[in-house]
Amino acid sequence: DALTMDKIVSLCKRRGFVFPSSEIYGGLGSSYDYGHYGVLLKENVKARWLEAMVRERDDIVALDSAIILHPQVWEASGHVGGFTDPLVDCRFCKKRFRADQLDDAQCGKRPSKHPGETDDCDLTEARQFNLMFETRVGPVEETGTKVYLRPETAQGIFVNFKNVAQLARRRPPFGIAQVGKSFRNEITPGNFIFRTLEFEQMEMEFFVPPAEADEWYRYWIEERRAWYLRLGIRESHLRVRPHDADELSHYSSATSDIEYLYPIGWSELEGIANRGDFDLTAHTRASGTKLEWVDSATGERYTPYVIEPAAGLNRSMLAFLCDAYDEELVGERERTVLRLHPLVAPVKAAVLPLLGKDAEMAGRARALYEELRRVLSVEYDDNGQIGRRYRRQDEIGTPWALTIDEQTLEDDTVTLRDRDSLAQERLPLGRVRERVLD
Ligand code: ATP
Repeated sequence: DALTMDKIVSLCKRRGFVFPSSEIYGGLGSSYDYGHYGVLLKENVKARWLEAMVRERDDIVALDSAIILHPQVWEASGHVGGFTDPLVDCRFCKKRFRADQLDDAQCGKRPSKHPGETDDCDLTEARQFNLMFETRVGPVEETGTKVYLRPETAQGIFVNFKNVAQLARRRPPFGIAQVGKSFRNEITPGNFIFRTLEFEQMEMEFFVPPAEADEWYRYWIEERRAWYLRLGIRESHLRVRPHDADELSHYSSATSDIEYLYPIGWSELEGIANRGDFDLTAHTRASGTKLEWVDSATGERYTPYVIEPAAGLNRSMLAFLCDAYDEELVGERERTVLRLHPLVAPVKAAVLPLLGKDAEMAGRARALYEELRRVLSVEYDDNGQIGRRYRRQDEIGTPWALTIDEQTLEDDTVTLRDRDSLAQERLPLGRVRERVLD
């Protein structure tokens, strides 16, 4: 069967990855809460990103800037004036649509005809709608200062350019990376966690000498594509799509999207943009602080260009889930399995005493679990039939199951079950650790 978003939503609910937010009040449709396995998976994706960006390189440093910034930041960045989507209302059904996305509007049909209706959609002219959430700082409604929840993490990086460039003691090309929440009052949120009101971004601003910008732009497109492939995303499900000139954001001279083949079709997973000197120049002009690179040895000064890979953490997690999802017939039985790469899987190994009530087996299993949990994300499960426990681990994507049985008590070996091939092998207890850490 073809993969549908419903199957992913249902698995996520069933196994506690993602729940509709405020569910006991009917849910909010465009917000989601992450349960235990969802958190572990999301944290793994984030950790792999930070590893690739910061830990394994010596030309990128980390930053964690505030969500609420000085309102002038968003004036200077162009967001107050230009961070808008074209909004159309339907006079007939009262629904709202993004004029440039009528195809995936929420009613599921192109709104020229409504489901079950013969009347045509009666759309108003498009008007520009700003996506930034507004709130107020200060104890009094009327006099408080209007501020915004950041719609991207990038601006927090640009306004810290001077601080970081001086303290990091690095010369361009160098980068600043940050992961954190962003907020957008999307006109048509939807498709599960693909588009929500709040989401986490993984953004890196790479500051380069202007003459090297093109080269680094191409470098980062390839580097980011390779990251998804290394973590197991199928090559046939990824493509790079350069933006047409009329699609480019107000700040960008070139942008390419890395798209993933979601159940809803090819959609943006990550954008890589050449932002030129737009941001540093804009903030220099508005703040009066020179955001430029000065070479203390030669006195040379210039405003670096910026290459930005901007990925969505939740969208990445959704891509990993979709790519890993599989249903197959094993004998008579259908099983659902998440073939997640071990480096992103929420749980690496499950320790299962064949008979949970057998004190000796449970004791051995417990000891193995205690040994492994110090170095790995492992789970202990002694509840129910072994087949059911295996199926549960398959659905949360656990690569290995370690079963303790009668034989373990005799010869100190365990069964290691491989999630994907279902092959079982007998392994001495003392070798389990090196094997699953491998
Ligand atoms: P789209 O065209 O899908 O609205 P965008 O081009 O506006 O996305 P960017 O501003 O480039 O997105 O943001 C970088 C990344 O942040 C996107 O590639 C996506 O992964 C993620 N992202 C953006 N908006 C949302 C959202 N509302 N919900 C979840 N993730 C998002």
